[in-house]
Amino acid sequence: TDPVDYICSAIRSVPDWPKPGITFRDITPVLQDPRSFRVLVDMFVYRYMRQRLDLVAGVDARGFILGSVLAYELNLGFVPVRKKGKLPFETVAEEYTLEYGNATVEMHTDAVRPGQRVVLIDDLIATGGTMMAAIKLLQRLGANVVEAAAIIDLPELGGSKVVRETGLPLYTVCS
Ligand code: 5GP
Repeated sequence: TDPVDYICSAIRSVPDWPKPGITFRDITPVLQDPRSFRVLVDMFVYRYMRQRLDLVAGVDARGFILGSVLAYELNLGFVPVRKKGKLPFETVAEEYTLEYGNATVEMHTDAVRPGQRVVLIDDLIATGGTMMAAIKLLQRLGANVVEAAAIIDLPELGGSKVVRETGLPLYTVCS
């Protein structure tokens, strides 16, 4: 089987979660099955192994899972992009708008050194608000964001288009 089909067919769609009318894309079956987890990680490893990266950044919380394994396999450090109020040291924050209200992501001010080549990992891109906020944070710290990546794209929500319109490459596996 095709590795993309193998991964994408393992994603579970849960109707009416977290609220009526929303269908949640659940990646836990991909992680639970050792073969699909390995195929997923290996796809990202092969994509980034020749990119001369310095760091992997992962978005709270599901971006930590793939992001940290990817960093380990590429022999790179991992830095978390966290939700507000979780990081203990000096932070830089970026606020973004949700359907109802606002959210904030934070990073430690010393997480990235200027010019470091970083790939940004999350599990899913919907409106793109989270990914764009994380990109802006990394760029404010002087990072060279080489690519943003997510396992799943929900193209009908427009986020992948928004990211690509900034000129930043975006890689997604399933849509
Ligand atoms: P966005 O900011 O692009 O609208 O939403 C993406 C963020 O919300 C990601 O951090 C992602 O983890 C989370 N998210 C939103 N909808 C889903 C979903 O259906 N499945 C998963 N796994 N995450 C989602």
